[in-house]
Amino acid sequence: MSFQEPRLVFDKYSLGVGDRFAHQGRAQLQACIQAAELGVAVVPVWNKSNREHNIVGSEPASVRAEADQAVSALGWKAGYHVDADHINLKTVDRFVASSDFFTLDVADAIGRPAEPSAIGTFLAAHPELTGTIEIEGIAEPFQTSRAEAAAIAAKYLFAVRQAGDIYRKLAAVKGEAGFITEVSMDETDSPQTPSELLLILAAIADEGIPAQTIAPKFTGRFNKGVDYKGDVEQFEREFEADLAVIAHARQRYGLPRSLKLSVHSGSDKFSIYGPMRRALVKFEAGVHLKTAGTTWLEELIGLAEAGGEGLLLAREVYASAYAHSEELCKPYAAVIEIDPARLPLPAQVDGWSADQFTGALRHDQSNPLYNADLRQLLHVGYKVAAALGERYTKLLDSCEATISRNVTGNLFDRHIRPLFLG
Ligand SMILES: [Zn+2]
Repeated sequence: MSFQEPRLVFDKYSLGVGDRFAHQGRAQLQACIQAAELGVAVVPVWNKSNREHNIVGSEPASVRAEADQAVSALGWKAGYHVDADHINLKTVDRFVASSDFFTLDVADAIGRPAEPSAIGTFLAAHPELTGTIEIEGIAEPFQTSRAEAAAIAAKYLFAVRQAGDIYRKLAAVKGEAGFITEVSMDETDSPQTPSELLLILAAIADEGIPAQTIAPKFTGRFNKGVDYKGDVEQFEREFEADLAVIAHARQRYGLPRSLKLSVHSGSDKFSIYGPMRRALVKFEAGVHLKTAGTTWLEELIGLAEAGGEGLLLAREVYASAYAHSEELCKPYAAVIEIDPARLPLPAQVDGWSADQFTGALRHDQSNPLYNADLRQLLHVGYKVAAALGERYTKLLDSCEATISRNVTGNLFDRHIRPLFLG
């Protein structure tokens, strides 16, 4: 089948900015303005998942309001979007009115068996997915036996059909192609290989989903808020192969021209930004880099840097996160790795200066004070700040100068510059 090109076309480079407390919209947008001033268009996408809304106690409309306000306050004329991140059939409803970007999360459905007849029908319709598959840009052709293709179809067909159900539900209320569709499969146990990605994209096309981004799970560990952990060379090979597969699938299956990869938990994966950048240039490809908690950590850094009450509150947040670490880590168990022995005791942190606190938390691996365990704990610790309510948000306002400088600088210098400017 072939698609009408979507009315709402996603740009080549885009940055997902999560903002847990909806206070940093302008500071985040400022990072995209800095890129624009250097001649590179990076479209901001404010994303917040149902899980984050539930933990913070916020509603999707607040994300739309924040994005609109930031855009009008700073006179941003280029595009921007509001992403209902990781939604499914059960959780999509509350996002319909305020989002124009939907991340259909079907990771839980991976491995749920499709009907055997559906697998047979799919493979019969796609003889090109078995045998020797040559893809431009990949030196070694894929060799996929019929049994392997059937196994891949058995693993993913049900999940893709479910994405189709969510897409059609949205299209019925929002109008077809009036929104950007992402299909995400990243929150699962095992990474998808490039040949799996190819079959998934063929199935997405069959379902009539005009996907503009696809978020596979990549090889290696994408722990929250800290650097990539894994074989960087293997990552680079697979990332390149994924880009080649996407270009191939766009042509072969008539998927939208704007289809690109979306990298989740992409914040702070510094050691793979260089390889990603090289691959994007080589394939003339775009990418969506989704960040979330990196901004909240800059809020804490900005609070601590302000000293006084800001520093006191930053220490208090740490003490409470430390006391509740088990509960806070639980929903994120698959995407954090914290060694409790490396966490400083709250009594120690109470004696820390602003420099000691920001040195431990700021993601500067060359600083001997940097502590990746503390950083991950605070990354998942935003529930503590949410519980502080107005006490927290009022201090965000009074410490705005130091916070916004850190939020903008982090997104621009550590993310946009290495990945989009090179
Ligand atoms: Zn994700």
